[in-house]
Amino acid sequence: MPNPLKCYIKVVGNKIVESIFQEAEPLEGMPVAHVNSTLYGGGVAEILHSLVYLMNDAGIEAEWRVIKGNQDFFNVTKSFHNALQGEAVQFTERMKRTYLKTNKEFAKITHLEHYDCVVVHDPQPAACINYFEKMQPWIWRCHIDLSKPNRKVYDFLKQFIVKYDHAIISNKKFLCPLPGRCSIIYPSIDPLSPKNKELSEKQIEKQLRGHSIDMDKPIVAQISRFDKWKDPLGVLKAFEIVRKRFDCKLVLLGNLADDDPEGEIIYNQVVKEAEKLKDVHVILEYNDLLVNALQRASSVVLQKSIKEGFGLTVAEALWKKTPVIGGNTGGIPLQIINGKTGFVVSSIEECAKRMLFLLRNPKKAKEMGKAGHEHVKKHFLITRHLLDYIRLIKSLVL
Ligand code: UDP
Repeated sequence: MPNPLKCYIKVVGNKIVESIFQEAEPLEGMPVAHVNSTLYGGGVAEILHSLVYLMNDAGIEAEWRVIKGNQDFFNVTKSFHNALQGEAVQFTERMKRTYLKTNKEFAKITHLEHYDCVVVHDPQPAACINYFEKMQPWIWRCHIDLSKPNRKVYDFLKQFIVKYDHAIISNKKFLCPLPGRCSIIYPSIDPLSPKNKELSEKQIEKQLRGHSIDMDKPIVAQISRFDKWKDPLGVLKAFEIVRKRFDCKLVLLGNLADDDPEGEIIYNQVVKEAEKLKDVHVILEYNDLLVNALQRASSVVLQKSIKEGFGLTVAEALWKKTPVIGGNTGGIPLQIINGKTGFVVSSIEECAKRMLFLLRNPKKAKEMGKAGHEHVKKHFLITRHLLDYIRLIKSLVL
């Protein structure tokens, strides 16, 4: 269970927490629904776990609904996800039918008409708006990197998106789905969640030892769903270059999300490649404390994505004062101020070069980590995110 809002005073100060309660007052008792496609795995579920609870603590009656789909549906929606991030995918009439059928069934058993505002996250449940007599504001919150979407899939989804009153995207560089009715809201991390709370040295060691990771040499880690967009194979190649010059180890920790059917395939590829290298640990596990411990114990955290809506893992590591090397894409450069809180990179070689630099210059790495913590505190904490939502909902509902 997340912490109540008052606990955040010690992190962000009284003024911010007070302003949340004040701004939320006109929304007291208002039923608001968040709709997404998975309870666990990935950044959206991560945010909703804290956001929905804190909205309630601020007096809003927020609830969380999850679209139920079979393997076929999630295969289709993962293709949509890939297409929106720019991949050329097969797009057939059968896929459209599968997508619409699940959205229709979901709409029938989910009484979204009972809410005063509905927030739908990402494309999976986006079409359910089609099956309601819309009486209240609907918001489409897109977490995906929409810089260069595949037009066929985007245009198909657009027929549903235009029915929404407002859209939220994470970056001004992304295509705006509803011109004039679109906000840029940065995602956030919860500093008091099990994944981000303070841990003692003893707790960190316990987590790592429990997973057979000795802290005998510097650790580099990437913590991400096993997804091609996160480029775990590129990480292995960059590490191979580094490992020849610097004695260190790599940990790739990942989980599988219910709504991502490609995860297992990528995981198997990663394991196969990792077996050829020394000092690589690949862990498949859902464990917040392990994520927390690893982000704290690492000398450098990587998020070598090729496409990335935002990349919560970057903010999570920076919050723990660990510098991050990330792909120069999507929301990553918002978090990594190049040369200040880490490095943004565009190739395997550049990633290796920056890793070596940070491993060889721990003092500089520490400075960057500290700067990263301040940057996250200012821009990417859940309290700011909650306030943004409260203000937006007020502007649409009142
Ligand atoms: N995550 C996790 N365990 C893992 C891998 C990832 O808990 O093994 C979490 C990670 O800490 C972050 C979220 O999943 O909170 C991933 O969010 P991000 O925005 O980085 O990427 P997404 O998966 O949404 O594309």
